[in-house]
Amino acid sequence: MNTEETFAQFHQSESETVRIFIPIAELCLQKEGLTIWIKGCLTEVLNQDRCVYTSCNVCKKKTEVELGSHFYCFHATAPHMATSVYRCYLQINFRDESGCVKLTLFDEVAETILQRTTEQISGLSLEEYRSFIGNFLENNKTRMFAIKLVTYKIGEAIRQLRFRAQHVEEVA
Ligand SMILES: [Zn+2]
Repeated sequence: MNTEETFAQFHQSESETVRIFIPIAELCLQKEGLTIWIKGCLTEVLNQDRCVYTSCNVCKKKTEVELGSHFYCFHATAPHMATSVYRCYLQINFRDESGCVKLTLFDEVAETILQRTTEQISGLSLEEYRSFIGNFLENNKTRMFAIKLVTYKIGEAIRQLRFRAQHVEEVA
């Protein structure tokens, strides 16, 4: 089997996977480790001032190290050599008929919804960024998006359910 066939088959099986859509009001009832979808509209962008920061390219944690610098990162349990890179994040409120959820979208997911690259956004001044987000919300109020989420839990004693957005696409 050649590589092209494998690639095609992978993508075919990916698109044929049954998507399980959950009403937002029922998100809190889900178990951890699930892949689920929600469908709705974006109502608010919560980070009004900035959506790009510099981070470690390995563990993705925020760093104050200058962009493009190589440094030794101590954020994770296993310290590692790293490069400081831009990371894009977008905190949004997302709504369907049943309710509303606050989500943080990172990197490609944020770029897809904003239709800009992290590099393009990083070049905006504060004023330009605010106006960009304002226009973005205005133009996207009625657009419907489907977001693929993976559920996970954090915390030791009280295990809180969280949702990691893996993919977003516009739906009719
Ligand atoms: Zn790191």
